[in-house]
Amino acid sequence: MWVYLNQKWQDSEEARISLWDRGFLFGESVYESLRTYDGKPFAVDRHYHRLCYSAGVLGIPVPVSLDSLRTVIEEGVYRNNLPEANIRIQLSAGQGHYQMREEGLTPMIVIVFKPLEPKDPLIETNGVQVALSRIRRYVPVEHGAAVKLSGASDIIIARREIHPPFYDRLMLNHQGHVAEGTFSNVFFVKNQVVLTPSIHSGILSGITREIVIDFARELGVPVEERFIELIELFDADELFLTHTSAEIVPISAIQGIPKSIGPITQELMRGFRAYVINQQEGVDNHGYNSG
Ligand code: PLP
Repeated sequence: MWVYLNQKWQDSEEARISLWDRGFLFGESVYESLRTYDGKPFAVDRHYHRLCYSAGVLGIPVPVSLDSLRTVIEEGVYRNNLPEANIRIQLSAGQGHYQMREEGLTPMIVIVFKPLEPKDPLIETNGVQVALSRIRRYVPVEHGAAVKLSGASDIIIARREIHPPFYDRLMLNHQGHVAEGTFSNVFFVKNQVVLTPSIHSGILSGITREIVIDFARELGVPVEERFIELIELFDADELFLTHTSAEIVPISAIQGIPKSIGPITQELMRGFRAYVINQQEGVDNHGYNSG
């Protein structure tokens, strides 16, 4: 596979980063994970803005413009011949001298590509089970969205608790409000209204979350973003998760309590793909479009 490391295309087996990289030594590294639809990288602009937000919180300069990032990603999809790709952008504070705090370093950016794992077709009909995590989501940004930080210990530890039959674990924040999954955002439906924790609940502002909110509103379904109590999840009419690679994932049971895959979740799932592909139109796809 080709990877893009420090402004150069390199073979992934040969690409090297420094032992003194602060991402490796101190976890001073942020990332983005995006995907393609039929050869076209999806929502690069949204991912770029989230990357800039995360990097800004850690004081890491972003050494690439939106346009050049888009060009590099498109080239990587083409070079690696991956029309259905998962793309990871990793940005670290760069190589230092193992001091506690260092300024003025050259940030290190690497973009890697891998085949996107196809979504299990049974997920949409059967749903998935989730359970609660004993780990609280910790977001060190006063009232802002979470940083997409590589070394977030709450996420790392909570992910280690995910075992079959559970697809993901839901985390509360330190105030006891519902936050999010370890790799997904959570939504529920109550009395025909779609609800989801607000970004002030200490969650990542998921790109799929943002798009689902826009899409639901476009369909005329009211959406509320606010603090959510745990009891509301147990009491919900429908529940679902969102994340980039699997889009909308219906929940069939929470903590062993069964939930049905209801009409609003089904309507959102049915239309989501067409909605995102419509948003893609006009982006050069390097001839991957099979249609
Ligand atoms: N929440 C967390 C903690 C995540 O790590 C992710 C994605 O990995 C998400 C939510 C979903 O975000 P997105 O829709 O951008 O994939």
